[in-house]
Amino acid sequence: MGRHKEGVDSFGSERASVFSLASYATIHGFHPLGFCLVIALHLAVIAAPWYVDWRAIFAAIVLFILTGELGINVGYHRLLAHSSFRPPRWLKRTFAALGSLSLQGGPITWVSMHRFHHRESDGALDPHTPSVSFLWAEFLWVFFDHPNFLDLKSKISFARDLNRDPVIRFIERWHAASNLLLFAILAIVGASLDGTRGAIAWVIWAGAVRIVAIWHLTFIVNAVNHLWGYRNYKTNDNSRNNLWISILVCFGEGWHNNHHAVPRSAAHGHRWFEFDLAFLTILILEKIGLAKNVQRPPRFPYPENFSPKGGVYP
Ligand SMILES: [Zn+2]
Ligand SMILES: [Zn+2]
Repeated sequence: MGRHKEGVDSFGSERASVFSLASYATIHGFHPLGFCLVIALHLAVIAAPWYVDWRAIFAAIVLFILTGELGINVGYHRLLAHSSFRPPRWLKRTFAALGSLSLQGGPITWVSMHRFHHRESDGALDPHTPSVSFLWAEFLWVFFDHPNFLDLKSKISFARDLNRDPVIRFIERWHAASNLLLFAILAIVGASLDGTRGAIAWVIWAGAVRIVAIWHLTFIVNAVNHLWGYRNYKTNDNSRNNLWISILVCFGEGWHNNHHAVPRSAAHGHRWFEFDLAFLTILILEKIGLAKNVQRPPRFPYPENFSPKGGVYP
């Protein structure tokens, strides 16, 4: 946070470079298994039009909302990474379990990396800054170890609050197996409805298409929202609010400059036109008594002396 104290004008003084990409690749390990998995799921997406099955597509939409919007946007991001509201413990664990079924890593891994992104945003240590390249920020970074996160201990140091909960530790440990189990369940349900073809259709649609969609909707924010869009706040990074990303695809996650300015706010949309579906979900939870201590942003326009808290976590 201290490195970019002067605000947006100082952005770029310590940019990441292609050299960072080379260091990641040669020193800190490439994950061929992860790479093959990503290729395999994308090939399955290409095959999807040959396996159209409306029940499988409906299951994909329901699971997309549960594991993507609720699991990643509301759960992993606003709740676990930033503590922007307080639900009952069973619901917090449910959000963690749902997020883990999006194949984006366990909750401790995801949250530690994300908090680190806020701390080092657009600097040389930022895990996914587009200062390296657009494709690096969009997806290449996931195939390499980050030098600061080579073991679970270093991840835990950025997510001690989550590591105290044995259920979240369990979800972290078994997240790969739970995804495999979900795929097996999808195959069994599909097979029971329509034999082998049904099994393949359910695995492709409710498994691969859903996961690839959530991946790209999550990762596109890392790339586009640190390059293009407008800024409400002069944060110490290059975060941007992007209308298209926000409304069309990401449940309000695209008001990213607002989010970097006030990371703890449950609302990422701060102005009247900045629609934010994930915040609406949190408001509904608040209404029915399942969310307390919902963090709200300052009222727009901001007071003269308002200073954003770029890089602060949770
Ligand atoms: Zn965040
Ligand atoms: Zn960001």
